[in-house]
Amino acid sequence: MQCEGPLVDRFGRVHDNLRLSVTDRCNLRCFYCMPEEAVQFRQRSEILQFEEIERFVRISVALGVRRLRITGGEPLVRAGLPALVRQLAAIPGVADLAMTTNGLLLAEHAAPLRAAGLQRLNISLDSLRETTFRRIARRDGLARVLAGIDAAVQAGFDKIRLNTVAIRGITESEVIALAEYALAHAMELRFIEFMPLDADSNWHSQYVLPGAVIRAQLEQRFGPLVPVTREDRSQPAVDYALADSGGRIGFINPVTEPFCGDCSRLRITAEGQVRNCLFSTVEWDARALLRQGASDEQVADLVRHCIGAKKAGHGIDSPEFIRPRRAMYQLGG
Ligand code: SAM
Ligand code: SF4
Repeated sequence: MQCEGPLVDRFGRVHDNLRLSVTDRCNLRCFYCMPEEAVQFRQRSEILQFEEIERFVRISVALGVRRLRITGGEPLVRAGLPALVRQLAAIPGVADLAMTTNGLLLAEHAAPLRAAGLQRLNISLDSLRETTFRRIARRDGLARVLAGIDAAVQAGFDKIRLNTVAIRGITESEVIALAEYALAHAMELRFIEFMPLDADSNWHSQYVLPGAVIRAQLEQRFGPLVPVTREDRSQPAVDYALADSGGRIGFINPVTEPFCGDCSRLRITAEGQVRNCLFSTVEWDARALLRQGASDEQVADLVRHCIGAKKAGHGIDSPEFIRPRRAMYQLGG
């Protein structure tokens, strides 16, 4: 194969990190992501098959991709996912294989995913109160998510992290309980600022709860948070150690402290559209190539073009910012 990396953009950023959405379907309806009713999902025939995903990943790995994260929609609603994990884990050059999930189906899937070669899990958990969980997710399910977290611990993943979307007016009253839960389970917790990617377009900057506010709240309860040196500059989170307990809490602050300057991410949507940014308004159609008998080199060229067109940053804070037409569940968060 003539496809060679690395994938370097106009700003010298090397792309070795691929976010792979495997479905736009979901068993929750989080208000910051999906519409509540009448969701327009892609037809099954539009969604990439496992063989197509595997081929795209092989080509990406030849271009220098080393880290994969499976996401969605909710990846665990895609039938047979452990089989895909097994296929991807077997690709030489894949050094890190992770997944982001809402945890609802983890109790049954954690062990098979681990056995198939999944290394790390991020589990989304915004609240430990059923009423707040339902207010956000617009479905029941907190008890199932907590059972899923327990099953993931039993399955022995290399690392499990909890992700919380930070929303003003909701998250403030959850911060301490979530941190205590994470500490008790020896897991890292990360707060992610609410981004303008909700399907209902209700996002407003006033709903963003800045990481700095949460940090101050945590320091009042747990004492000083000590910054942890970032081993990997492209890692978007700023992590802190709790001086007293030794736990770790991180912040991904894409709105108040954009980290685009070190971005190393490439994305492919469930229906095979390649993107260079969550906030990009342009996509490159890999599915058409994969289904029209294109060579690996032609697919690699498309990926290079996509990375070559990457902008310096997402520009959420700029007056010229245009929201992407598609919401988080359609992009792969
Ligand atoms: N369904 C899975 C889940 O919820 O973990 C995976 C897909 S979800 C789109 C990936 C991550 O994006 C989750 O942690 C979710 O909380 C986060 N997310 C979704 N919409 C967001 C938004 N508008 N701003 C910030 N994070 C968001
Ligand atoms: Fe589903 Fe995840 Fe979006 Fe919530 S954030 S609606 S769980 S895809």
